[in-house]
Amino acid sequence: MSYKETLKEFFGEKCLFGEPMSSHTTYRAGGPAEVYLYPQTKEEWGFVLKLARTENIPLRIIGFGSNILVSQNGIGGITCSTKKMNQISINGDAIKAQAGAALDKVCEMACKAGLAGMEKLSGIPGSVGGAVFMNAGAFGQETFDCLEYFDVIDWEGRPATLLKKDLKYGYRHVEGIENCIILSAGFALQKGEYTQLIAARNTVQHNRIEKQPLEFPSAGSVFKRPANDYASRLIDAAGLRGLSIGGAKVSEKHAGFIVNFNHASSLDIKQLIERVREEVKAKFGVELELEQILWGNFEEAH
Ligand SMILES: Cc1cc2nc3c(=O)[nH]c(=O)nc-3n(C[C@H](O)[C@H](O)[C@H](O)COP(=O)(O)OP(=O)(O)OC[C@H]3O[C@@H](n4cnc5c(N)ncnc54)[C@H](O)[C@@H]3O)c2cc1C
Repeated sequence: MSYKETLKEFFGEKCLFGEPMSSHTTYRAGGPAEVYLYPQTKEEWGFVLKLARTENIPLRIIGFGSNILVSQNGIGGITCSTKKMNQISINGDAIKAQAGAALDKVCEMACKAGLAGMEKLSGIPGSVGGAVFMNAGAFGQETFDCLEYFDVIDWEGRPATLLKKDLKYGYRHVEGIENCIILSAGFALQKGEYTQLIAARNTVQHNRIEKQPLEFPSAGSVFKRPANDYASRLIDAAGLRGLSIGGAKVSEKHAGFIVNFNHASSLDIKQLIERVREEVKAKFGVELELEQILWGNFEEAH
């Protein structure tokens, strides 16, 4: 039996072949994933990890695809989605959420329960797993501020609970977890004033609608914030606001975003990213570092 047949037999409807990644990324672009899976239980994760290891098949984890650009040529191997792992529970001042729960849903539940510490993360359109992996943050609050621990399984299939206090982390980066699959996360919050929390959440959501081009597909800020500056300011000052390649454009509303305004291919987006980097480097000598993650080979087939 081929590895694909083995997976289909084990996962049934939760195993798809040639799945278009444009349906699973907020850029709404990207070619097919060779195999797209929805593992949920530890047993299912164990099965796919063992198979990938023994057959030497590349394996990727995707949450909500809101920080990934997948090549127009697609991606080989197995892509595992956490989307079906979406339980959230509150116990006193603590919240536990599975990796595929929406971060924004966790924020909403925290605010409604009068728990403070996550309200400014409202509106980040990622999963809990993606937020932990990237240490997502906004308006001066980061995922790791309120995170206490997270449960993982490594590529060898070994489970572990990692405590925040034992890890090194910083702006959009956590050290040493590249080889971990995050299964769930525990947040420790403080009691807060219900109306103030709801007001803070509303303000953040309002700010996002006002400042971000949410009317178009994107994956948020393309670049990390350079030291003592903002990527959007540099891009704007370089005269690149509104610059387009194919269906991809530097947003006119927020120059830190690239939007898919007209059926952009991933190659359009990738080329625009490179162009922006080159021009900012040429004009200001600043190397913009990508915040978004690139998957696959973007070279054009000849
Ligand atoms: C409109 C818009 C606004 C945004 N605003 C913000 C913002 O304010 N702040 C911010 O930080 N980000 C922002 N983002 C980017 C994005 O939402 C975050 O980076 C988010 O944390 C990504 O989560 P995800 O589930 O979509 O991850 P994905 O994009 O699916 O994956 C990102 C990375 O995390 C890894 N990953 C995902 N889940 C797991 C898991 N369970 N275990 C191990 N690895 C995993 C993936 O392999 C990949 O390397 C924005 C995006 C959009 C589209």
